[in-house]
Amino acid sequence: MKKDVENFISEIEQRNSHEPEFMQAVREVSETVIPYIVSQKIYHGKNILMRMVEPERVLMFRVNWVDDKGEIRVNRGYRVQMNSAIGPYKGGLRFHPSVNLSILKFLAFEQVFKNSLTTLPMGGGKGGSDFDPKGKSDGEIMRFCQSFMTELFRYIGPNTDIPAGDIGVGGREIGYMFGQYKKLKKEFTGVLTGKGLSWGGSLIRPEATGYGTVYFAENMLNHVKNSVKGKTVVISGSGNVAQFAAEKCNQLSAKVITLSDSSGFIHDVDGINTEKLSYVMDLKNNKRGRISEYVKKFPKAKFYKNKTPWQVPCDIALPCATQNELNANDAEILINNGCICISEGANMPCSPEAIFVFRKNKILFAPGKASNAGGVAVSGLEMAQNSLRYSWTREEVDNKLKDIMLDIHNSCITHGLEKGHVNYEKGANIAGFIKVADAMLAQGVV
Ligand code: NDP
Repeated sequence: MKKDVENFISEIEQRNSHEPEFMQAVREVSETVIPYIVSQKIYHGKNILMRMVEPERVLMFRVNWVDDKGEIRVNRGYRVQMNSAIGPYKGGLRFHPSVNLSILKFLAFEQVFKNSLTTLPMGGGKGGSDFDPKGKSDGEIMRFCQSFMTELFRYIGPNTDIPAGDIGVGGREIGYMFGQYKKLKKEFTGVLTGKGLSWGGSLIRPEATGYGTVYFAENMLNHVKNSVKGKTVVISGSGNVAQFAAEKCNQLSAKVITLSDSSGFIHDVDGINTEKLSYVMDLKNNKRGRISEYVKKFPKAKFYKNKTPWQVPCDIALPCATQNELNANDAEILINNGCICISEGANMPCSPEAIFVFRKNKILFAPGKASNAGGVAVSGLEMAQNSLRYSWTREEVDNKLKDIMLDIHNSCITHGLEKGHVNYEKGANIAGFIKVADAMLAQGVV
């Protein structure tokens, strides 16, 4: 079996040798899905995984825009349309200087499995640009978003490809891109999700990824007769996912003691309660400030420059910033300090070596494709509401989100149970794979 996996990986590697993040995601899926394929006759001779790792289409384009000094700037835009077997492409747009094809292909590949797990009819895609929104004026952001959409609009649509937000793309950016799409296409349609409430957005969409990550942790803990209540929680990041993960932890009576950004982390032993969290939300979302400013406002807290928060003792860790932000050494420290549960809010934040450590110690570990699927699930609900031209209440959407997260959890158990312990990674990969692979088989070689 190991040989089958290695042969497959080396073939994919030849074609994608300069894409380390993409190869990391492919390897992680192959290790659990190839043994499953081998055990199931219907997939034999269909080259199904080989077809799934090749994007259906990759779009790459120039994005020109004019900065506030009147200078012309050039960035690169992308959209990876990975798989449309079970629905139109769906996945976020990321604006960050690190964006490249490897990162977007890894995200698009993960998205295929994640979207399948939600049980909603959505294929997988991802896109973005190496544009850095940090330090840009509102006018510069608007001109960039308009220029980006001036090219992207040709390839997307409510039945084709429906992008959403990701790192560096929040409500403001979605608004500017939606405005430009509407102008170019002359139609008001649900082509993006994460829209404002008064123009087609869904209640709970901003909260969904963070809330869902904590619901998933709660589901894992409930399964072993435990709960989030009363636990100490370490969170990385201070953006959309981290903020609402922290909010949900507070609502479930857990104590959140860290948040971070790319310059370091803050540790508040007293807990980042509702009042302190609303300061963080205003600081990050309106003032576009740095997390280090927290300690000026709350001097009992400490700021650790250029450090990640994993050495702080906790019961639950929620990595909610970016890929490969938690390594094997961090994993060992977390476990030695008593951590019992890790739920990934970000995409692929734990390195393969860190996951190995969690698995070896039989720690509850949820991969992002399962635990952070709440965001895209509510995006799917936003699409449904747009089609119905109707809005569900906050409670209705939140209940649907809870149900979806529980369904995903249960699918992971169905396919990931190993000698009384749940391998959530294996469960998520196999459950996500089955639906997409079966649809591909039914649709023929296209
Ligand atoms: P935001 O842009 O709102 O926030 C990102 C946060 O992560 C910021 O605090 C940022 O710090 C930090 N960060 C980004 N890059 C790095 C880095 N290289 N090193 C350290 N910190 C970093 O993004 P989101 O909260 O939306 O996304 C966070 C993660 O969650 C991503 O992996 C994303 O793919 C994933 N995700 C998001 C979903 C959503 O609905 N938004 C859905 C599913 C997954 P700084 O401000 O300094 O850059």
